[in-house]
Amino acid sequence: MPWDERYEAVIGLEIHAQLLTETKAFCGCSTKFGDSPNANVCPVCLGLPGVLPVPNRTMVEFAIRMGLATDCTIAPRSLFARKNYFYPDLPKGYQISQYEEPICTGGAITIRLPNGAQKRIGITRIHMEEDAGKSIHDRGNDTLVDLNRCGVPLIEIVSEPDMRSPREAYLFMTAIRQRVTYLGICDGNLEEGSLRCDANVSVRRVGDTAFGTKTEVKNLNSFRFVEKALEYEVNRQIGLLESGRRVVQETLLWDADREVCVPMRSKEEAHDYRYFPDPDLAPVLVDADWIARVKSELPEMPERRRDRYVRDFQLPEYDAEVLTTERPVAEYFDAVVGAMKSRTTETRKLASNWVMGDVLRVANEQHVTVSDIPVAPERLAAMIDLVIDGTISGKIAKEVFDIMMTDPDAPASIVRKRGLVQVSDTSAIEQVIDAILRSHAPQVEQYRAGKQQVFGFFVGETMKAMKGKANPAVVNEILRRKLAS
Ligand code: ADP
Ligand code: ZN
Ligand code: MG
Repeated sequence: MPWDERYEAVIGLEIHAQLLTETKAFCGCSTKFGDSPNANVCPVCLGLPGVLPVPNRTMVEFAIRMGLATDCTIAPRSLFARKNYFYPDLPKGYQISQYEEPICTGGAITIRLPNGAQKRIGITRIHMEEDAGKSIHDRGNDTLVDLNRCGVPLIEIVSEPDMRSPREAYLFMTAIRQRVTYLGICDGNLEEGSLRCDANVSVRRVGDTAFGTKTEVKNLNSFRFVEKALEYEVNRQIGLLESGRRVVQETLLWDADREVCVPMRSKEEAHDYRYFPDPDLAPVLVDADWIARVKSELPEMPERRRDRYVRDFQLPEYDAEVLTTERPVAEYFDAVVGAMKSRTTETRKLASNWVMGDVLRVANEQHVTVSDIPVAPERLAAMIDLVIDGTISGKIAKEVFDIMMTDPDAPASIVRKRGLVQVSDTSAIEQVIDAILRSHAPQVEQYRAGKQQVFGFFVGETMKAMKGKANPAVVNEILRRKLAS
């Protein structure tokens, strides 16, 4: 533990996820990121008088999706409320949010701790709201305001104070990211701000039942920061208590350069939002049919997939975990397995090795998702089939895979065209081996005198002479026979 073991941390997270809708929450403006400043605005999202907001149905649907994926209860009736505050990037003077009656309540997510145990983290609520614009402070002396983000739909996921270490908070955050990306409702990009995390932190003596005073740490816009910032804050609070002082309830900002939490100016945290139901918006009504439809369309979530890979495919836990971390990878793997001719425990493991190894490596190198690498799952499957039926060796397969990156041909014709077919013909291999044994008489004697390691040397020489195309099983068998006599 990185801190005084007589204390435990209590952490609750508030996570904002920007929804991947085409248009904004209450108007038809585009949500596109990176357009020229203030290009995507209209009287509704600018809050001009005389206009009315109309809720985006997809926003509601996405909120329901996340609610169902986290075991929440979906409210048949929920309300939009106005959260009033003044800030230059909020032209209406209030943010449309949900307060007293949010759309989702009472859910949970199970995280896997480093020791393998599972832990349930409660989700208090998930509500819909609109984003504010962006103030730009780094262009000379003036502050500029870009309102393109104004009115972009968000969901806010509020956890129970169930996490007991920065590590658990990190794992929860990762689980949320995994879920929103599996559901296709958010791109999960922390650095670009489409997933934002504020952490509420307090500490207490182990054994205490009451919670301590909490602080709120904002600006955790990278997975690397989440743990670091929270460890800093936990230690700071313990230090205060140990020196006989008290924790003051305040909002802190993580300063990534100096690696410290600094208090926000008190003016900015003195909030009285004066929430009230938005008179311009009718209650959000969600009937049982809608919920049933969304439920039936949910993708297979990561844990179910992981269990299926372990149970039905007999893949090692580790493989199942790596393959299901991101949905495109799991889908790629499923497509490979689905297209392979031979589907046994062994061949599935082979497919897993290829996806976890070369496929992920190439995707990383090219900075693309696996679905965009030049080798489609069906072609990889065809190539693995060639390994399984003995047409090519595992070693040559690596070469074929590299060729497939630039050559769109079918693996079988690549192998044919480049003469990469594995030689299993006993007499051809025997000829090569005879020549090698003849020209390495001293090593043959060493082997026969009991120096076992020389065997590998002969295998290597044979493979080299046959440009890697000899069937290793056949080479081994012939060598063993010849060296024994
Ligand atoms: P507030 O009224 O300050 O908004 P809430 O009770 O609404 O506080 O909780 C906001 C977030 O803070 C939730 O994620 C919750 O789990 C967390 N939280 C509440 N109390 C504590 C505490 N004592 N220590 C750490 N986190 C807490
Ligand atoms: Zn608009
Ligand atoms: Mg609150």
